[in-house]
Amino acid sequence: MGLSERDRKVIWHPYTQMQTAGLPVPIVRGEGARLYDEEGNEYIDAIASWWVNTHGHAHPYIAEKVAVQLSKLEHVIFAGFTHEPAVELAERLLKVLPPNQSRVFYSDNGSTAVEVGIKMALQYWHNRGEKKQKIIVLSNSYHGDTFGAMSASVRDLFTEPFWDLLFDVLCVDAPVKGKEIKALEQLADAAERDDIAAFVFEPLLQGAGGMIMYDAGPLDNMIGICKQKGIPTVADEVLTGFGRTGKFFASDYLANKPDIICMSKGLTGGTMALGATSCTAGIYDGFLSGDKRKSFFHGHSYTGNPVACAAALASLDLFDRKETWDNVVRIIGRQKDFVTGIASHHRVRNARQTGTIIAFDVVNGKETSYLNDLRDWMNDYCVNRRIIIRPLGNVMYLIPPYCITDNELDRVYSTLRSMLDDIES
Ligand SMILES: *Cc1c(COP(=O)(O)O)cnc(C)c1O
Repeated sequence: MGLSERDRKVIWHPYTQMQTAGLPVPIVRGEGARLYDEEGNEYIDAIASWWVNTHGHAHPYIAEKVAVQLSKLEHVIFAGFTHEPAVELAERLLKVLPPNQSRVFYSDNGSTAVEVGIKMALQYWHNRGEKKQKIIVLSNSYHGDTFGAMSASVRDLFTEPFWDLLFDVLCVDAPVKGKEIKALEQLADAAERDDIAAFVFEPLLQGAGGMIMYDAGPLDNMIGICKQKGIPTVADEVLTGFGRTGKFFASDYLANKPDIICMSKGLTGGTMALGATSCTAGIYDGFLSGDKRKSFFHGHSYTGNPVACAAALASLDLFDRKETWDNVVRIIGRQKDFVTGIASHHRVRNARQTGTIIAFDVVNGKETSYLNDLRDWMNDYCVNRRIIIRPLGNVMYLIPPYCITDNELDRVYSTLRSMLDDIES
């Protein structure tokens, strides 16, 4: 029995309707932007394995650093104890994060990084004895799959079974083209309330909500209003961090820096599960007290795992190399040429780009939605041609690892072009 059939007997996959899904592709090896299946077929990973991979698969330098750490110290409780990789990683993150950030709190994925950010903001007010519990979020937002992260996300298909159980948030329009003024007005109105605890947003790019993009300027103005009102701002940089937008963080495009920043996906170069939430001294100081009840009672068994921190440090070493940023610039250029060229295709609407990421809606006469049935057809079309994509309904996007070569990009682009030509109405 092959791996896929064994899998089907014992495994329940994420975001998968197990009754109708095809068998999963059994991957045995990765190298650069390529993955290889059991039969030796070579695939190009055009979505960085669910948006996490930055430097390529099984990167030898990261592998070596992880191996060294693994035989030295694999894990230790992170309350009452510490270790070199966690300390060095926090020191180095604070060097690349916006200068207002002063502390790093570890967790182990993107959803928990956001949970931590939200809980920090809520308890910040609780510790001050002020009842402020309303969170402002943006339309289309996606912040993860745990309950707090779901609550802060738009009420959509993903969270529908749980709507009644999610805490109430105030949703304002994302400041997309044409809605900048309205978004700002809605936020200004919301910020007038005296019970606002925080404003949570995905800066510049709303990922799972449909790869929706907007400019830094309008967000900057929205954060500016929060600053005036003393409302903590939480940037969910789980997707946008680590070069995705062309700079280290999307927040680097903002004049008004967020108070809390959530990181995960690219943090370890896509090697290990790790989350980190950084905050300003102002937020951190709000938890200092002679009263133990004001402590941040949050932690995970694998908080600050040394092996994951070593992977993140190795990834940061690679970000110190000029070559990595040259690649980011190269990809931004290549993506721009492709997306500009494809924009006028009769199947394409709303071709767009933020940094290394491009997206466009594929038109098939049905509405743009996660359930648009074009999705499975496009997915199969590309995977059959050994290009790994994962469209959000009829929204197609590319999030390549930075090591992807020009030849590999050409293969991806030509497959997408023929895919668009081959769609039957
Ligand atoms: C993926 C994602 C998350 C959730 O991260 P997980 O590691 O999948 O829990 C949160 N926020 C954003 C913006 C994301 O893209």
